[in-house]
Amino acid sequence: MRRPFIAGNWKMTQNRASAVALASGVAKATKSVEGVDVAVCPPSCYLDAVAAAVAGSNVGLGAQNMYHQGDGAYTGEISAAMLLDLGCRYVILGHSERRHILGETDQDVNQKVMAALAAGLVPIVCVGETLPEREAGKTLDVIRTQFNGSLAGLTGEQMAGIVIAYEPVWAIGTGKTATPEQAEEVHADLRGIMAGCYNREIAEAVRIQYGGSVKPDNAAELLSQPNIDGALVGGASLKVDSFLGIVTKALG
Ligand code: PEP
Repeated sequence: MRRPFIAGNWKMTQNRASAVALASGVAKATKSVEGVDVAVCPPSCYLDAVAAAVAGSNVGLGAQNMYHQGDGAYTGEISAAMLLDLGCRYVILGHSERRHILGETDQDVNQKVMAALAAGLVPIVCVGETLPEREAGKTLDVIRTQFNGSLAGLTGEQMAGIVIAYEPVWAIGTGKTATPEQAEEVHADLRGIMAGCYNREIAEAVRIQYGGSVKPDNAAELLSQPNIDGALVGGASLKVDSFLGIVTKALG
């Protein structure tokens, strides 16, 4: 049985005070939540402050990106070891905004996944098709290519410990959500890919989040699909009430 996992991607929002207030609010609101993993992923400059705000709570800390090198002359970058030092357990890798705005490739994502795993972080690896790709009937091919490239070379044990986020690019921040059937089709396909590359046991162990305009009023239907194990939430994670509204839908 896979434990549901709801993570909030705060993107490049908040200031120090609002980040601490939001994190404290989520920590308080999820105090008695059991059976669901919850995490918040603030901008890296607020990781320290948010780590303090969620210390001792049910809320895990995640970063939104990292660099694959351990240390050295890489101005502006942050390593996996630095994220661990800040109290992170998770790191989002290959988010579509990084792929499409900042030009990250599957190979870049793969290097980061390897470095995150080597350091002991849990990567949340994002895959997802654009609208033209979906309309051209290429969704499953695109997902397979991203999976093969971004997750090349993982051992079975490493694969079983990662989180995949299926995030159709056309549904992120647009208010358009994939229907539960559209999302389930891709999630089931991802599980089939993993069964083929590894085995059924590993495929069944990996948690696959859905992301793309998840809100309290559409979360229950999405999360009730057999292969949807949680959500990566952008906009609706920026208010305690709406984030909690999604977390409670994962309780079953
Ligand atoms: C995201 O940023 O990963 C995301 C899914 O955003 P939103 O929920 O706002 O669509």
